[in-house]
Amino acid sequence: MRLIQIPTEGTRIEPNLACPDHPIIPFIEGDGIGIDITPVMQAVTNAAVHKAYGHERQICWLELFCGDKAIQHYGERLPQETLELLREYGVSIKGPLSGSCTGSQGSLNTQLRQELGLYACLRPVRGFYGLPTTALKTPDLVNMVLFHNTLDGSIATTIHDEWIETRKVIHFLQEEMGAKNMRSPETLSTSLPAVSREGTERLVRLAIQYAIDHNRKSVTLVHQGAQPKAPETSILNWGYEIARNEFGATHTDQGCWLQLQNGVVIKDMIADAFLQQAILHPCDYDVIATLNLNGDYLSDALAAKVGEIGLAPGAHLSDTLAMFEATHGTAPKYAGQDKVNPSSLILSAEMLLRHIGWKEAAERIAQAFAATLSEQIATYDFARLMPRPQVMGTHSFGMAIIARM
Ligand code: NAP
Repeated sequence: MRLIQIPTEGTRIEPNLACPDHPIIPFIEGDGIGIDITPVMQAVTNAAVHKAYGHERQICWLELFCGDKAIQHYGERLPQETLELLREYGVSIKGPLSGSCTGSQGSLNTQLRQELGLYACLRPVRGFYGLPTTALKTPDLVNMVLFHNTLDGSIATTIHDEWIETRKVIHFLQEEMGAKNMRSPETLSTSLPAVSREGTERLVRLAIQYAIDHNRKSVTLVHQGAQPKAPETSILNWGYEIARNEFGATHTDQGCWLQLQNGVVIKDMIADAFLQQAILHPCDYDVIATLNLNGDYLSDALAAKVGEIGLAPGAHLSDTLAMFEATHGTAPKYAGQDKVNPSSLILSAEMLLRHIGWKEAAERIAQAFAATLSEQIATYDFARLMPRPQVMGTHSFGMAIIARM
């Protein structure tokens, strides 16, 4: 039996068709501060849609349950009904979910992504004028979009918990692979990185297509080239092949760099050098494609450079589904206090609007958000970075954005 009532006035977004005027968009409030930021995100999104299209268009929100709220309704944190409706309605948005990464199934977020086959993580990193940062004088020069894959990754995460398994792996590596100087199974913690060709190719394909669709200048393949045999280096060769074979890229006069007919440059860089260069010369980097672990480090580090953790939006994608989400956690110590920053989820909603083709509404959010910050209006976390801030709570900050649309 279904617990969820589907709004009768809305319609489903059909894959590969224009978004209807009243799309049903599922949302998950999220644990902890989800209760503070999600209603504000909805209010800002509704206001932007209304300002852009009047009564012609409206989002029909559909609340689905996952995490703590799902326990109240279903007695479990990841109900089947939630998964089915997320699959059925395709485009969704969620607040943060609590849960540590212990056990073989990983965190609730990981399980959700695995169940839905959301293989690519998309993380825009964008600075704003008026928001000074600890590291950059001109954060507004940073405007990058990082793609990294989430379903390829380590395939032996439980090994270090189980010595018997570790012994088997060490035996195999020593006897079959000729590995030398391995430490004893009692002290060794190990896992096997797994990088598949198809997983890497579909990620690079998505990143190049994004660059084309959004008039971006370049795609940088970030790899582990200093260790040629590391699995994370494979994105280099497979990525260039995809660019050549599927997008007709041809060589430029700059080493192995390629260029598409519309001018998008496909280039590469070693991960450590990339992190340094992205801070020193942010204008040289646009869309980035990289593998699981590098992507986690790079997107968090770059987001921190342009304005603390409450700012960075994100999305998880498959070929048919898109789930937008705040990238920070549930910050439980602030839950229900109307204090935290809703920007990450609001900017995720802005991405969602662009994804469904409602660019005018997305622009309303982007412009009003930038105007709010430039007037030094901020929640407590951004206020720490500003010389003369006007500090606001979660709700008032959202209202300040709406007032500037
Ligand atoms: P966190 O919830 O992100 O909080 C860490 C700190 O970041 C907070 O104490 C706060 O710092 C700052 N912060 C986070 N969100 C903020 C916001 N919206 N506005 C202002 N400041 C914000 O990280 P955590 O404490 O490591 O994780 C808590 C739980 O969240 C864990 O159960 C974890 O598994 C989960 N988590 C979920 C997701 C997700 O759902 N995508 C992501 C990460 C973590 P200050 O106190 O210094 O102001």
